[in-house]
Amino acid sequence: MTDVLASPVLVLNRHFQPVQLTTAKRAVVLLYGGAAQAIDEAGEPYDFALWRTLPVRADDDALPIVGGALRVPRVVHLCRYERQPRTSVRLTRRNVMLRDAHECQYCGRRPPLRDLNIDHVIPRSRGGGDSWENLVTACRPCNLRKGWKTPDEANMRLARSPFRPRWSVAAQLLLAAGERFKEWDPFLKAS
Ligand SMILES: [Zn+2]
Repeated sequence: MTDVLASPVLVLNRHFQPVQLTTAKRAVVLLYGGAAQAIDEAGEPYDFALWRTLPVRADDDALPIVGGALRVPRVVHLCRYERQPRTSVRLTRRNVMLRDAHECQYCGRRPPLRDLNIDHVIPRSRGGGDSWENLVTACRPCNLRKGWKTPDEANMRLARSPFRPRWSVAAQLLLAAGERFKEWDPFLKAS
């Protein structure tokens, strides 16, 4: 039950562009309150009154409601949401590691995640900031060896120059989701 409430639901804006993921719990609240419509796998929109009449099939998740069970939607469409999808990728530890494919950018090793650090190419103490161009994935030994030095001073070479990734909104949502549903495909492919 807890898992069902937390399962990811794809949110589309007014223009049917994917904008974010939400939880089944929040999606049902939006649907119930009329802020969103549920979209079935054929792309048909349903308001809450109609959606609640749909049967729960073998593959569906369901939530108990008065008088039966509610099929959990995999996609909802926000009727009044105007925001355009975010296109720039957020600078986070996780995204830096994803950009670098979890490879130490100095030695090329791929240790377990817990042994990976984020390294400031130009150390913070030397004025290096938090940016896509100054943060790289580094294994613990390389990170220690480099210390407060620049790569030149430490006699270490980067595998490639760090860069700002250009992942599509769809790719970002899929990375964030951890699991995906076939009902998302038409919308993610189109974006
Ligand atoms: Zn390394």
